[in-house]
Amino acid sequence: MSFSSLGLSAPLVRAVENQQYKEPYPIQKEAIPAMLQGKDILGLAQTGSGKTASYVLPILEMLQRKVPSGNRAVPVLVLVPTRELATQVGEVVRSFASELPRQVKSMAVFGGVSINPQMMKLHGTEILIATPGRLLDLVEHKAVQLSEVKVLVLDEADKMLSLGFKEEIEKIFSLLPQKRQNVLFSATLDEEVAFLVAEILHNPVKIRI
Ligand code: AMP
Repeated sequence: MSFSSLGLSAPLVRAVENQQYKEPYPIQKEAIPAMLQGKDILGLAQTGSGKTASYVLPILEMLQRKVPSGNRAVPVLVLVPTRELATQVGEVVRSFASELPRQVKSMAVFGGVSINPQMMKLHGTEILIATPGRLLDLVEHKAVQLSEVKVLVLDEADKMLSLGFKEEIEKIFSLLPQKRQNVLFSATLDEEVAFLVAEILHNPVKIRI
């Protein structure tokens, strides 16, 4: 099975080949077509499974089909527990976006560094990768608007909860529009994660790797 048979267009297939990916990993085979169909996804997968590409590639594909809004409202929000993961996901987005005919603006934001440079660079961001606390700070500063999010990804949801981000993510959900596509990845499915799954996912495609 090839990446193009999953519904990805030529520039993304080229970008994947540049990364020396020979064929899609199991999680990618399931998640990419489902996401392109607009479905919600529950991915129970560890780091190393290829989970990042499984949501980044379809998101880039979907964004290519739309005209960007170019304002403070972000269409794609990826919530992550740590600065390290934010940076890592940001790099994956950049590497896959390299061959696209239309530039996609992505940005990773996290706490522990000055907020001002992040505020100044946010305008027109299409894929925002954020840790919950810093995202809420940026919303409060009116640097970003969440009312037009079309796709929400929670990556490492179990870690987000174990780090105590429950309240922050609930607050973030309250700022999002009702109608959106939701994707949740977690290494484990304990009671707390199950609650989150029931709260935000609608008829999800379940993938367990
Ligand atoms: P992740 O689970 O997203 O952190 O990815 C783990 C590693 O697998 C990363 O180094 C990716 O670059 C790599 N990877 C992801 N998908 C593929 C693939 N289809 N073929 C080869 N390597 C891959």
